[in-house]
Amino acid sequence: MSEIMLPTYDDVVAAAARIAGQAHRTPVLTSRIADEETGAQLFFKCENLQRMGAFKFRGAYNALAKFDAGQRRAGVVAFSSGNHAQAIALSARLLGMPATIVMPQDAPASKIAATRGYGAQVVTYDRYTEDREQIGRDLAERHGYTLVPPYDHADVIAGQGTAAKELFEEVGPLDAFFVCLGGGGLLSGSALATRALSPQCLLYGVEPEAGNDGQQSFRSGAIVHIDTPRTIADGAQTQHLGQLTFPIIRRDVDDILTVGDAELVEAMRFFASRMKLVAEPTGCLGFAAARAMKDQLKGKRVGVLISGGNVDIDRYAALLAGQGG
Ligand SMILES: *Cc1c(COP(=O)(O)O)cnc(C)c1O
Repeated sequence: MSEIMLPTYDDVVAAAARIAGQAHRTPVLTSRIADEETGAQLFFKCENLQRMGAFKFRGAYNALAKFDAGQRRAGVVAFSSGNHAQAIALSARLLGMPATIVMPQDAPASKIAATRGYGAQVVTYDRYTEDREQIGRDLAERHGYTLVPPYDHADVIAGQGTAAKELFEEVGPLDAFFVCLGGGGLLSGSALATRALSPQCLLYGVEPEAGNDGQQSFRSGAIVHIDTPRTIADGAQTQHLGQLTFPIIRRDVDDILTVGDAELVEAMRFFASRMKLVAEPTGCLGFAAARAMKDQLKGKRVGVLISGGNVDIDRYAALLAGQGG
């Protein structure tokens, strides 16, 4: 472990300069109704309004912008069925390099089409019989592509940390901050920014109840692996934290909380009806946890990161109508 080089806040600062003019500086919204309900003063960092609809653009663009000439010529490969795929595809197009995305053949057609729409080549695989990491590595070896993983990569972590950096620069120090947790790229990057800009802030990672590997890992001190959890929070269906994300989270995060799918739907409904915001289920983890903890947040200044807004519109309508996912 000791030879692993963890990214630092300086890397977040460098990432912010690299993505400036490419990523949106997303708005920080407030809501009188949310404040009344919780008794706290809430600041929502709206990464659902980021380019391609999620914070993942930040880390992907930062990683690809650091490629050398040879890496750019050969291009990038990534495996993802979700927001990381689109983030890599869009970043590659903006930087003028080829991208290959490995996606399950039963991924939603809209996601495959969106990824192709950004100009990426999509390679599909059978998720029950084939190993996507192996396919990604084979493609990288055969064609000289550089593999960029969705969270366990120093440049990805640093890029994801720029959203929290913007939040603290805009609203000043906070008492508590709630961040969605999958593999931990967003949380570890946010932790670097939090410890630099608001050191006393209580920082919470929030993951789905059904997939609390992060909480188990945090409390036991070793990375816990689980089977793919059943939850509507599809952006947080990761099976384990990373070799880079875990030590940062263990060092800099105060606790990992969980919320159930029903609470995520309630939060989605709140965002839609009260704030006119479309948030995907995973993007609601932070607010759902803050609501559940409101007795401890009275009179406090609290940050909530809304991580993304990419949800198929029919599925969104069904979830809001209480018809499952
Ligand atoms: C990827 C993703 C997450 C989880 O991010 P990690 O860096 O894997 O922890 C949360 N929300 C959304 C919308 C995502 O796309």
